[in-house]
Amino acid sequence: MSDVRNVIIIGSGPAGYTAALYTARASLKPLVFEGAVTAGGALMNTTEVENFPGFQDGIMGPELMDNMRAQAERFGAELIPDDVVSVDLTGEIKTVTDTSGTVHQAKAVIVTTGSQHRKLGLPNEDALSGRGVSWCATCDGFFFKDQDIAVIGGGDTAMEEATFLSRFAKSVTIVHRRDSLRASKAMQERAFADPKIKFVWDSEVAEIEGDPKLAGLKLRNLKTGELSDLAVTGLFIAIGHDPRTELFKGQLDLDGEGYLKVEAPSTRTNLTGVFGAGDVVDHTYRQAITAAGTGCSAALDTEHFLAALA
Ligand code: FAD
Repeated sequence: MSDVRNVIIIGSGPAGYTAALYTARASLKPLVFEGAVTAGGALMNTTEVENFPGFQDGIMGPELMDNMRAQAERFGAELIPDDVVSVDLTGEIKTVTDTSGTVHQAKAVIVTTGSQHRKLGLPNEDALSGRGVSWCATCDGFFFKDQDIAVIGGGDTAMEEATFLSRFAKSVTIVHRRDSLRASKAMQERAFADPKIKFVWDSEVAEIEGDPKLAGLKLRNLKTGELSDLAVTGLFIAIGHDPRTELFKGQLDLDGEGYLKVEAPSTRTNLTGVFGAGDVVDHTYRQAITAAGTGCSAALDTEHFLAALA
């Protein structure tokens, strides 16, 4: 069993590293679990980030995250590239167990474990991420000016992504597995009324084609089995996200979709001394800057909480 730390941060995306930077600069000596394989979070899987303020020419996702990491480390954050496998957050002293079985103790815990975008599960999907394949229209739509784009999905997010993308794109084709949409009526009507948006019903993506960039899709009609080609240079996959909250079930309050509930605008969870920030809380904005912003809020909430204990 380790000494009792001030604060342990679980997760190392923009939210985790920002929380680490702020708590380190407040002399709280944070311990950060970065994750075993995905230290740096979601932006490690992308290429250019053009909408993080302060980088007028844009910055590569992994470089941005390396900078955040180094900045947190510079002020004394202790970073461990390992997963947390279990937690007990209920008492005054919280415990967090890593993959070697070592139990770490802290007075406060900040949860910044992010969310995982659902994938189609196709061979080329990861290789072409940031090279035509995207999960975020707000992030990447601008790169696809005057191009033909496909959006996969039939819910509100897919309709929102498609109507947003139609501002830039030459055409947007929504590919959906069924013959009707799950999206709300208002979102559907907006998509149906948009002259740039077309629909391919009862179909799934059978193949993502292109090397080194996306060149097109092979679609399979699920009723007839027929294959067809769709020439697109952009593919937006909008089939949902899964917040990484498995560890916290039964201890922290989660909403119906599994996201961590906080007492907004604070980052307080239902348990005293436990705070949540970034995409694990947020199913609306899902941006690096909003994750960093709430990471900062969680650090400040933690600082106030620890000051009140003293
Ligand atoms: P994440 O970045 O998801 O980080 C969570 C971290 O927690 C991960 O490192 C994970 O390994 C770790 N973790 C999870 N569970 C555990 C555990 N049990 N133990 C230890 N660690 C754990 N946003 C923009 O603003 N601009 C863009 O251009 C942009 N492009 C994007 C491109 C792609 C391909 C993707 C997927 C997202 C993009 N986004 C972009 C969105 C942005 O990446 C996210 O909003 C942001 O990364 C969320 O930050 P976060 O810190 O909440 O979580």
